[in-house]
Amino acid sequence: MSGIVISGKELAKSKRDEMKKQTAILKEQGIVPGLAVILVGEDPASQSYVKAKQRACEETGIHSEMDHVSPSISEDELLDKIRKLNDAEHINGILVQLPLPDHISEEKVIETIDPEKDVDGFHPINIGRMMTGQEAFLPCTPNGIVEMIKSKGIDIQGKHVVVVGRSNIVGKPVGQLLLNEHATVTYCHSRTKNMQEFTRAADILVVAVGKEHFVKGEDIKDGAVVIDVGVNRNAEGKLTGDVEFDSASKKASYITPVPGGVGPMTITMLLQNTIFSAQRKSRK
Ligand code: NAP
Repeated sequence: MSGIVISGKELAKSKRDEMKKQTAILKEQGIVPGLAVILVGEDPASQSYVKAKQRACEETGIHSEMDHVSPSISEDELLDKIRKLNDAEHINGILVQLPLPDHISEEKVIETIDPEKDVDGFHPINIGRMMTGQEAFLPCTPNGIVEMIKSKGIDIQGKHVVVVGRSNIVGKPVGQLLLNEHATVTYCHSRTKNMQEFTRAADILVVAVGKEHFVKGEDIKDGAVVIDVGVNRNAEGKLTGDVEFDSASKKASYITPVPGGVGPMTITMLLQNTIFSAQRKSRK
């Protein structure tokens, strides 16, 4: 068997084409969706993520503005900037690029963002709404994963989903979203014993660990759907996933590549949340 590749790049493109139409409709009503990004410090990976997000906004008709601040900014100063954006009429979404310097509490920063502008879906109010199945800003990477699975008409209900990784931004919420879709969900993490027993039992396997080739073909069941969230840079400087694509794709029914898989969908879901926020405001 050779797995069908789920291209996040292609799906993202078709979704962004649809979004361009939505922003055009909003413009006719005099509304331009606005995203504010705060970048603290000079981390090269963060800088390139922020640039990619801004480029995607531009292409989709979303106004974006970036405040690039010194890593020595105090926590209070940063929280003040967020409060100003909470009050800014033209801003529908606020994103503070993580990670932050050690002297700034990520928790405080996230909790200061108005939940109605929390397009990353990290605020505890949005997480609570997601858990209880209410309307919420869904976290972008997990939401993008669910969209990728659905785009292929894969039935999630009743399937055994195994998520490797339990971070607050990927592992935990992706399991929750798939539970909301009526899957039976198992989480694995660094203290899990005999992990292969779980990964080999998965109908849908989501791997979000951050270790190159952590899961190989021998770790998965024939016909499994494999979602690789990992973004790692190998010794040659090439981007690689957490799944060994060559061996896993021989057994999987569907598999996501790295690059060109989950990554482009993450940014697309951020755009979607920003447009959704503007649409909601226009209805008020
Ligand atoms: P993280 O916060 O470092 O979490 C990693 C998770 O993997 C933790 O839950 C950890 O378990 C688990 N883990 C580590 N070693 C393990 C082992 N030997 N066996 C089993 N589980 C193990 O990372 P993250 O933020 O979730 O990101 C994971 C990967 O996804 C990274 O490569 C990141 O770059 C990538 N990512 C990609 C996107 C995208 O848009 N494509 C978005 C976000 C993240 P414990 O909890 O027990 O420590």
